[in-house]
Amino acid sequence: MSRTELIHVCDHCAPGLANDDWTHVTDDDEYASIMAAVEAIGFAAYHGPAPDEVPWAGYFRCPVCGYDHVGPGVLFEVEAA
Ligand SMILES: [Zn+2]
Repeated sequence: MSRTELIHVCDHCAPGLANDDWTHVTDDDEYASIMAAVEAIGFAAYHGPAPDEVPWAGYFRCPVCGYDHVGPGVLFEVEAA
């Protein structure tokens, strides 16, 4: 089995990444940017909500939308680069 790592995705992008459903993204530019990021990330498996006490809790940059977020977010497993 290949090595995996966890990525930290915001609540806005998590449902899209989990279900490949981006119908909630209505802005064309944002959609294009998200599609490019999703393609770069490759296959991502839903791992679960990030625990509140994780070391990175607080601010994090979502690798899908590229925005900074506050809060626990959601973890996905991806193939390590
Ligand atoms: Zn995001």
